[in-house]
This record gives sequence, structure tokens and C-alpha cells, in this order.
Amino acid sequence: MKKAYSNVILWDSSMPMAKLCDVITDGALIDSVVAAGTARNSVYDGKGKTALLPGFVNAHGHAAMSMLRGLGEELPLMEWLEKRIWPAEERLNGDVVETGTNVALMEMLSTGTTCFADMYFFMDRVAEASIKAGMRCGLSRGIIGDADGKKLAESLTLAKDYNGAAGLVNIQLAPHAPYTLTMETVAKIAEAASENSLGVQFHWLESKTDWALCDMNGKMTPEEYLTQSGLTRVKHLLLAHCLYVNPQSVDFYAKENITFAHNPKSNLKLGSGVAPIASYLKAGISVAMGTDGAASNNRLDMWDELRFAALIHKGVNYDPTCLCSAELFKMATVAGAKALGFDHTGLIKEGYTADMMLVDLDRPHYTGWDTENLPGYLVYAGSSADVKATVVAGEMLYADGEFMTIDRESVAAEAVTARKILTQK
Ligand SMILES: [Zn+2]
Repeated sequence: MKKAYSNVILWDSSMPMAKLCDVITDGALIDSVVAAGTARNSVYDGKGKTALLPGFVNAHGHAAMSMLRGLGEELPLMEWLEKRIWPAEERLNGDVVETGTNVALMEMLSTGTTCFADMYFFMDRVAEASIKAGMRCGLSRGIIGDADGKKLAESLTLAKDYNGAAGLVNIQLAPHAPYTLTMETVAKIAEAASENSLGVQFHWLESKTDWALCDMNGKMTPEEYLTQSGLTRVKHLLLAHCLYVNPQSVDFYAKENITFAHNPKSNLKLGSGVAPIASYLKAGISVAMGTDGAASNNRLDMWDELRFAALIHKGVNYDPTCLCSAELFKMATVAGAKALGFDHTGLIKEGYTADMMLVDLDRPHYTGWDTENLPGYLVYAGSSADVKATVVAGEMLYADGEFMTIDRESVAAEAVTARKILTQK
């Protein structure tokens, strides 16, 4: 069925400037963009003061960690993982993960995110919750250790059951990090990914000490590791963090078509540092954007990531020109979508998925916006509080504080129980 969003200010990262128009969707896809006020079947009138933008693609995170928010604040990464996060995660069960995912889905939908990457546990429950909510996602079962291959087998079952499900779910394989698996196991995962045409999500060079903890440290470079393990041969390789890439190696990542997921706030909060994203983009590396989990961020709000990325890179490079607003939006939409295997997501164009957010421009901090300067207003003045509605695959899932597919009250009650299980309080 065709639906029209009339009199909206359309902008995506491929457009030099915004324009007033009607956007028509047909089922899960964008059908056409026509002159303002001409479309029939209008379901939403933007009245010339509502922006219609592609929804954000959160390219790295652990959704159900919304249940671990606030645990072990302000500890160093390894201490935080070993003393607070991993012990709590020992107590996870399917119900807790489903509840945590629903909490995260609400936070993401209400802040304009329409697709998210997830690397966690009990992923069948994450898939079911996402399908039920109508959210697009790239899901992977995080694999740690796994000398016996059981977690890899579980990941492949997940792929068999859910890859392509409801037109919303793509499955990836996810070796956790080079320091939590042997290279031999990573090679087996890479081989399985290639054989089954699946993408891979992997934590990569997040902290200064990551590589020192890897079993191949001293025997090969990180880039030789990626090549020799077979990871460079997989369909889409999405590396999260990437703070400590050797500057001499950036061409390798560009040539191998690898996508980096930049998580500026998580990196700052954990004291990991600042990924030199401007130099990566200059080298031609595809860079996406993510929040990481709510235990290290502590928000799943892509508007925050956009603004932090814009400001920190201009600051550390002493260069206000090094990242433009369109580039930031591209990172937060198209780049992540492609890396998760969604080739027609992240732009508002005919044939693309109808994944979008409606943003209220009728607010004091947008005074002075026009079709040319809108991107800068969105990055530097806008925030998630301006999101009026979020649409995924043509369905409105959130509008004006209400969730159409998630029962907020029952999730809130379940979350109280889940938190007690995890914290043993
Ligand atoms: Zn992570």
C-alpha cells in the first residue's frame, strides 16, 4: 500500500541541499519523491517544518547491555570487563536478553535509529524481539574462546534460522576480539563466514594493549593477521573501534574494503583514546558509526555520536574542515547499512528501504535553517529530542513518545526483574 509523507524537508547524505517535497512509500520501500502537496494518501503532513531523513544505522553495539548500564563506571577496560561485566553476563538468560533488547529498541527508535548491529548472546531472542518490533538489524552471536566450535555451530544455526528473516534481519559471525580467541579459531570462523556468505563483526585494536594480548603478537602484524586468518576474504568485514591502526597500514584497510565502526563516546568514556577517523577517511576507508553497548556509553543515541565525532576530530586535528556534516551522516547511515549487508538502506531514494525519521524543525534552536544549511543545524544544534517519529520498512514504529509495536510498561516491569538477576541485588 502506498503512503505519502507530505510537505517534508527531505535530506540525505547524497544530496547537496535539502528540498521541500512529498515522499511516497510502497510497502517496505521508497516509491518516489514528488512535488510538495501533490501526493495522495498522505499519512503525515510535515507542514514544511518537519525534516524527513534516513534513519540512523547504529553500526556497533550490544543491545541487551542496556541491562548493565552503570555497572563498574569509570574502571579501566580490562578491569571493567573482568570484574563487572563478564561476571554479570554469566547470569544472562534468554529472557533477560530479550528484555534488554526491548529496552534498547525503545531507546533507539525514539532517537531515530532504524537499524542496529548487535553482537551478544541468546541471539535467537534478539532476532525474535527485533522482528516483533519491526526493527532492521545485523545480528551476531559473540564468540569467545570456543576451542570446541560449539559457539560457531550455534552461530550457523542462527544464520540458518534468521538470515533474511522478515526482510529485516541479516546475520553475521562475530569472533569477539583477537585477545579472546586463538587465531586458529578465528580462521575457522572466517572460513565458515566465507562458505556461508555471511559478514563478520569483530572488535579491533580498541585499546593500546589489545594487540599485546593477542596470541599472534610478535609473530605477525595486525594486517597479516587479518589476511592469514582469512578475514579479508569474507563478504563484509566490520571492525569495531580501530583506534590503534598503524598509520602506514591505512591503505591496506581501504584496499580490502573493510568498514570501521567508529564509537567515539565509548572510546572516550573507557579512556581508550580517539580513533584517527579523519586520516582513515582521507585514506578512503569506509567508516560507519556506532554507540557500543549502554554499559560503556551510556546512551544509544546516534545524535550524540554525530556531534561528538564532529567536535573531537575537528579539535584534535586543529582543523574545522576535516569532517563535514554530510560525511558524518553518511557514516551514521549508508556506510553502516552496507557493512551489515543492506545495500539499499540509508538514503531516501526510489527502491531504497523506507527507513526514516521525522524531525521537528519548528523549535527555537532551528531558527534560521534553510535548505542549504540544514545539515549543519542537524549536527550542531539538533538532538534526539527533536525526533517526532521513526519509520522502519514503511511502518511507523514510534511517534510522539508512543511505541506502536513494543509494550513499554510490560518491558519496564520485566527490566526490574532482569536487573535483579544480573546484579544479584
Ligand atoms: Zn563492542
